[in-house]
Amino acid sequence: MEALIVIDMLNDFVTGKLKTERAQRIIPHIKQLTQTARNKEIPVIYSNDAHLPVDFELKKWGDHAMKGTKGAEVIPELKPAKSDYLLEKRTYSGFFETGLDLLLRKLKVDTIVLTGLHANICLRHTAADGFFRGYKIIVPKDATEALSQQEYQQGLEYLRKVYDARIIETNEIIKRWTHA
Ligand code: ZN
Repeated sequence: MEALIVIDMLNDFVTGKLKTERAQRIIPHIKQLTQTARNKEIPVIYSNDAHLPVDFELKKWGDHAMKGTKGAEVIPELKPAKSDYLLEKRTYSGFFETGLDLLLRKLKVDTIVLTGLHANICLRHTAADGFFRGYKIIVPKDATEALSQQEYQQGLEYLRKVYDARIIETNEIIKRWTHA
């Protein structure tokens, strides 16, 4: 069983405090993936920053995606559906003290499809923790981005080399899900 994980597609990362124009191109692809997954009853899990003022990470990045604020909400284009799972995180990894592993095991997931921001930061750390726990990792390269082209490319290359991630296109996943 696969699960689709959407990481940090939040107002602050797309249009707010830590915005990047580069995030725009991935929105339609993630939308396509979430819609197809829901139709095929593949779990959709949002892994969202929701920071408290004491969080260590804020020393590095400044305040962003503060819990309960508009900046910490999923962008309107990718609004979660009722059947989706929303998990809050307080640092880069979607697995770190979030209950994600427990949820995936309950859902009998063995493969995670990672999308969202950023390929070389939160997605990378989520991939690492997923790899340590034995999950297979798929990354649609047109559904993730980073703050620069170099970070994007190096991010993907690292995922492939170190976590054996399959780097493919959204289309390939959609095709497989709709023919399965
Ligand atoms: Zn953060």
